[in-house]
Amino acid sequence: MTPERSTSKQAWVLRGGRLHDPAHGRDGVLADLWIEGGRIVAPPAQAHGSGWKQIDASGLVVMPGGVDLHSHIAGPKVNAGRRIAPQLARQRPAAVPTIHATGALYAGLGYTTVFDAAIATGAAGLAHRELAELPILDKGIFLLAADDAAVLAALASDDAATVQRLVRQALEVGRGWAVKVANPGGTLFWKHGRRGDHHDLDAPLPGLPLTGRLVLTRLARAVEALGLPHPLHVHTANLGLPGNWRTLLETMRSFDGIRAHLAHVQFHSYTGGNLDADTFGSGVEPLAEWFNAHPELSLDVGQVLFGDTVAMTGDSAAAEHLARATGVPWMSHDQHLAGGCGVLPIAYREKSLIHAWQWAIGLEWFLRAADPWRVALSTDHPNGAHFLAYPLLMRLLGDESFRREAFARLHPAVRKRSPLAGLTREYSLQELCIITRAAPARLAGLPHKGHLGVGADADIVLYRPNADLQQMFAMPAAVYKGGELVAENGHVRAHPTGTTLAAVTFHS
Ligand SMILES: [Zn+2]
Repeated sequence: MTPERSTSKQAWVLRGGRLHDPAHGRDGVLADLWIEGGRIVAPPAQAHGSGWKQIDASGLVVMPGGVDLHSHIAGPKVNAGRRIAPQLARQRPAAVPTIHATGALYAGLGYTTVFDAAIATGAAGLAHRELAELPILDKGIFLLAADDAAVLAALASDDAATVQRLVRQALEVGRGWAVKVANPGGTLFWKHGRRGDHHDLDAPLPGLPLTGRLVLTRLARAVEALGLPHPLHVHTANLGLPGNWRTLLETMRSFDGIRAHLAHVQFHSYTGGNLDADTFGSGVEPLAEWFNAHPELSLDVGQVLFGDTVAMTGDSAAAEHLARATGVPWMSHDQHLAGGCGVLPIAYREKSLIHAWQWAIGLEWFLRAADPWRVALSTDHPNGAHFLAYPLLMRLLGDESFRREAFARLHPAVRKRSPLAGLTREYSLQELCIITRAAPARLAGLPHKGHLGVGADADIVLYRPNADLQQMFAMPAAVYKGGELVAENGHVRAHPTGTTLAAVTFHS
C-alpha cells in the first residue's frame, strides 16, 4: 500500500489495519481509526459519509507513535559529546547526531515523543533553544534540580514547603517535564575532592546534615506532593561500579510506597568487588524480585549493544571512574551550571568481559521484569547504544533463538555464568508495543500519547509484519504525527514543529 499525504487539518480514516493498542486491550485486532484535527475521534454517525479521505492499512500492523522516556539529545553535554570524539561523527549515522538529524531519525523509526533525561537547571534555556530546532517530535526535558545548592539546603533542613517551591520554580523557569536526580549527593562529594564513587547512600554529604538516601526520599515526596506527571526520575549512586546492585536494592527500599522511576538499571546491577572474571556478574535476580513486588516503581533498562558510542552522564564521578579504567580522555561538564556531567567515548565489544556482562544484564532485566507496563525500552542513548539500535533490541527480546546466537558470541566467562542462558521468555508484539510507547507514555504522564483511543494525538505508525522483528521495526511503512504523514519507508516527508512538554506553566 502507498500511504497518501494528509495534513493534520484533514479528516481521514485509516482502514483495515491490525491495531496494537494495549491501553484498550486491542491486541492485533482489525479496526479503523478516524482522525480529525490531529486527534483520533469517534467514528462519524455516517461512517461512509463523504469528506473523509480513506487510507488503506490492510495487511499492516498499526501502533501508537513511540515514546522515548530516557534519551540524551540536547544541551551542553550532548554538544560536548559531539566534540569529544570527532571520529564518531563520521559514522553513519553519527554517534551523536545533530539536532535536525535526531528528529528525522527518530521519526523515521516511528518515534513521535522524546525526553532528554538530564539537563542541568542552568542549561535549560540552552537545551530549549536547541530543542526548538528538533523537527517533528514532541519533546521534554528532565531537570537535575537536586544539584542546586538551595534545593540541597532545603532538603537538608527537611523543609518540604521550600523544597516544593524551589522544584516548582525550577520547572517553571526551565520549562521542565520532570525532576531527575543523578548520583544523589555524589556530585557534591566529587566537587569536594572526595571520590564520588563507592559512596554509601547513608554517608553524610560534605557540609550538610543530609545523605543520598534523604535526597532521594525527600525529593520523591516533593515531586509526588506537587502532583507532577512523572515521578522522581532516579539515577542512583555508584553507577557502573562492581557490587553496585546493593546500592540499587537500597535505593528501591528507600522509596517504600513513594512512586519513583529507576533509570538505566542495567548500569546499577553488578556483583563483585572488582572488575574480574570470578566475581563481577549479575545482581538482577534479587533486584527484579524486589521490583516485581513493588508497583510504585518503574524502570528503564539502558541496554548496552555492541559498537562505538559516546557516554554522557549527569554524574562526573562515574565518568571519571570509567575514564580511569579505560584510559580514554574525558570531559567534565556543566559544573558552572550547578550540575556535574561527564562525557567520554566508549567502544562496547562482545569479547570484553565487562561489556558482555552489561549486554547480558540489560537483557536479563527485560526478561525478569514481570509487568511490561512498568518498563520503558531504552539504551540510554547514546550511553548504551544509539537509539537506532532499538529494532535490534526488540528482536533480541522477541526472538529467543536470535538471542541465543548472539549470546554464543560473548566472552566465555559470561556464557558460563550469566543466568540469561536459562531465560526463554519472548516478548510478544503487544509487549513490545507496551515497552516502546504505551508504558513510557503512561509513566511519563501523557494521557494523549501511547494509545489509539478517542482523544489521543494521532501519532500513528504502520509497520509491515515481518518474522525478522529488527527489519520490521527499523523501517515503518508510514509514520503520522498529529495526523500528518511525516515519514514513509525511512524518508522524511514533512517537518512539522513539535510541542514542548512543560509540566508547570507560567501564571503571570
Ligand atoms: Zn541517561
